[in-house]
Amino acid sequence: MSENSSSSDAILDRLHSLAHWLGDPVRDLAILGEGNVSAATSSEDTETFWLKASGSSLGTMRRDQFVLMDTRRTLALLDRESLTDDEIKNHLLGARSLPDAAGMPSTEAALHAVCLTEGGARFVGHTHPTPFLSLLCSERAEEALAGRLFPDEIVVCGPAPCLVPYFDPGPPLARGAREALREYTETWGEPPKVVLLRNHGLFALGKTADEVERVTAMSVKVARAILGTFPLGGPRFLSPAEADRIRTRPDEHFRQRVLAGEE
Ligand SMILES: [Zn+2]
Repeated sequence: MSENSSSSDAILDRLHSLAHWLGDPVRDLAILGEGNVSAATSSEDTETFWLKASGSSLGTMRRDQFVLMDTRRTLALLDRESLTDDEIKNHLLGARSLPDAAGMPSTEAALHAVCLTEGGARFVGHTHPTPFLSLLCSERAEEALAGRLFPDEIVVCGPAPCLVPYFDPGPPLARGAREALREYTETWGEPPKVVLLRNHGLFALGKTADEVERVTAMSVKVARAILGTFPLGGPRFLSPAEADRIRTRPDEHFRQRVLAGEE
């Protein structure tokens, strides 16, 4: 076995365990067919990626229920407007690296491809955590998500969430999220770790599967904390200067590296 195929195998193994971690009922992040995960198949490039096949459940899916996708062909879907549902399905089937392989790619394939390219992620976890649904399906979601609450949130989840308005799932949502991700990167000088979809759920972007787990766990804690502030008058966010101080403190940079396993 070549070094490349063995590392690709290790990536798929880790993606499989990430799916089970995210789908564990105890975490209340995704039930039934909700959510999906993806990972670049090589640590060197993003030419292909593994994606959960539609119809499987995160918590119980088998290792053979991932589909290998061609990133360029998947992203080409975003250049084609007004496709019928059948045309989208056929495009996604044709974007598989091995067209004869089994498995229908998730409808959010193009959004995963955006996160793995423009988002700079190597692993992506998409879930529908109940505390986030409470926030994202409320009248006051923008207000509730307008700032950062506490230092550890900034260390793990970055300077701000990237909030995406509601779009029809599939190519319209992937195009809307790509736009929001580009604006975010221009504003903050780095891609987001957390992409929040109005009336839908959460995308956690990580360099590793461990990071996807950390970002998801911390984000859900934040969502619970935000909801808990409303009976007490609503969130009191850190000021931009306080939040910026956390981002630039050397001890917080050290903590980020420790969490990433680099120290
Ligand atoms: Zn979803």
